[in-house]
Amino acid sequence: MAGCTQCGECCKKYGMRLEATTLDIARWAFEGRQDILARVGIERQGTEVTGGRLWVDPDGRRASVCPFLELRADGKYYCGIQETKPETCTAHWCRNYIEGM
Ligand code: SF4
Ligand code: SF4
Repeated sequence: MAGCTQCGECCKKYGMRLEATTLDIARWAFEGRQDILARVGIERQGTEVTGGRLWVDPDGRRASVCPFLELRADGKYYCGIQETKPETCTAHWCRNYIEGM
């Protein structure tokens, strides 16, 4: 996104307090992304999946940092699951986008 400096602040601040949609969960299951599903606190009503907490550690506790946030050698932050990141991350808006217009 134009204007994004890849500072990683949005993912650091909000990355552990997000919700997965049922569509996210269905897509990850279809794509065989057990690595992602293992980090989602799946929520159910009866047998129906109603959503999921992002992100959790393998023991089910809330993670302290998004497990897919990567700091690379160029000093910038990258989403390690960019191709299938949660809908809420796709919809994220940052005021830096305006400055990049
Ligand atoms: S969207 Fe904004 S806060 Fe997030 S990495 Fe880009 S510039 Fe930083
Ligand atoms: S999934 Fe990607 S975009 Fe979403 S919080 Fe994690 S690193 Fe950021």
